Amino acid sequence: MATTAQPRTEETISIGGGTPTRAPRDATDEGQIRIDLAAAYRLIALKGMDDSIFTHISARLPDGPSGSKRFLLNPYGLMFDEVTASNLVTVDETGAIIDDPYGAGVNAAGFTIHSAVHMARHDAACVLHTHTVAGVAISSLQEGLLSLNQWSAQFHGAIAFHDYEGIALNLEERARIVADLGDLNVMLLRSHGTLICGRSVAEAVKLAFNLERSCKAQIAALSTGLTPILLPDDVAAHTAAQYARAYDKTEAAGVDPEWDAMLRQLDRQAPAYAD
Ligand SMILES: [Zn+2]
Repeated sequence: MATTAQPRTEETISIGGGTPTRAPRDATDEGQIRIDLAAAYRLIALKGMDDSIFTHISARLPDGPSGSKRFLLNPYGLMFDEVTASNLVTVDETGAIIDDPYGAGVNAAGFTIHSAVHMARHDAACVLHTHTVAGVAISSLQEGLLSLNQWSAQFHGAIAFHDYEGIALNLEERARIVADLGDLNVMLLRSHGTLICGRSVAEAVKLAFNLERSCKAQIAALSTGLTPILLPDDVAAHTAAQYARAYDKTEAAGVDPEWDAMLRQLDRQAPAYAD
């Protein structure tokens, strides 16, 4: 569609605005990472975005004393709404257990995608994988996610794709997943689900929520049978850049009022996440 160039003014939006209620994020603070990751599991569960005991959200921990890589993962067999800060399992890059306070082990096969992404993408503090109905549906469409609205415009030009090869367990597919992801942060795993990298747990969750809303909105719009309005490329790209600048600003500051609000929501609805 032809568009008329419009003057752009630098926006001052602060997506998620408000007053922060906790100290700035500290990427070296394992206790804070544990609380954030447990919160991520609970929030995904609250939104109905979990899939029984499957899919994972992983977070990078500071390296161990000998430079060993360490990651946090959910105990295998727990529902997402049973995950707490203290029952998260510490594993190395192969999924081998370093510390397992709950004693249920981890789904090492399920961690293979996460470990591959973590080892290739040191900027990813968190890797979040879901099998939501809306995410699987959009991943199953040749066109993928369309820039139909403000939510989906955030992802304009920023979604990678990986073709389905069966349940992703083998090392060869891990390499292809990493190559397909490249330096993007959002990937549609064809006929499978979604994968998101965040510079923090909070960023991964916010991206997951917006991606889910985008997928649901696309399904809702197309289900009417009426004619969808695709945003012009320049408008969608401009919107994506607006989101990116706001997210960059939040990550640089380490202060995130939207995440703080989500944690307060959990404090009201599922306070045991922080145990
Ligand atoms: Zn999966």
